[in-house]
Amino acid sequence: MVLRKPLLLFLQLLAARQIADQSAPQWDYRDTNRWIADYPTCGGSQQSPINLDHYTSIGSLKPALKFRNYAQPFAGRLTLVNNGHTADIVLPETVRGPRPTITGGLLDGVYEAQSVHFHWGAPGGARGSEHTVNGYRYDVEIHIVHKNMKYGNAQEAMQHPDGLAVLAVMINIVDIPQTYYPGLNIVFNSLPRVRAANTNTTIINQLSLNHFLGDVDTRNFFAYRGSLTTPPCSEAVTWHVFPRPLLISREMIQRFFELRQTNGAPLWNNYRPLQALNRRQVYRRKGGI
Ligand SMILES: [Zn+2]
Repeated sequence: MVLRKPLLLFLQLLAARQIADQSAPQWDYRDTNRWIADYPTCGGSQQSPINLDHYTSIGSLKPALKFRNYAQPFAGRLTLVNNGHTADIVLPETVRGPRPTITGGLLDGVYEAQSVHFHWGAPGGARGSEHTVNGYRYDVEIHIVHKNMKYGNAQEAMQHPDGLAVLAVMINIVDIPQTYYPGLNIVFNSLPRVRAANTNTTIINQLSLNHFLGDVDTRNFFAYRGSLTTPPCSEAVTWHVFPRPLLISREMIQRFFELRQTNGAPLWNNYRPLQALNRRQVYRRKGGI
């Protein structure tokens, strides 16, 4: 059978449309209120990020967070991806086999590390953390995403309120840093290789997840139950936010500002505006063991 050209074209268009329909709708940070149209959960009552307040959070007897295999080097090389929304690193297993895990804090169960990504501002001093503390916004926020081990994969975990746990590490820019963070600097130095959206690069240095925590004080945190801060905004995340920032040079942080979105526009201010706390409780843990 010979198809006439118009019919062939029609069938090709139909196939192309079906493929497009299966992919998730596009979104960006220009108007985050529009996310709700394609992703209704973004209008939920337990959304992130929020302002964390020293005065309205309750000091709690929650245990400290426990870190396992955070010092173990990753078994494979890390791939840094500019996905058009952030710079993202999917974490492989460690040389010992298992992935790094966290327990304790507000968590029930064991959560294994999946990926690391960043939120940042724009040239000229615009700050870009997602969470604020007493109304104060930091320059950069690192998210270390973990999945509850009782779920098979991240997609499944996103369907459950106890599915994901994210650690948030803040960064502030300083002129003369007192501490050097070799692992983070390796990541920042790799950013110019993923300027364009949908490009990736391999990080050849051997890193462990501790490199992404730096020397942050993990005994001090705010914890609450919230959501992914990007579509589909699943209300599946237990947050632990460390309020004491790492202090890093402007030269390093400026490398984020070179990244581009899929449409070629600069990838700046990739943070979601603050969401309402509603009836949620924020827990505050200070010092101690
Ligand atoms: Zn994030």
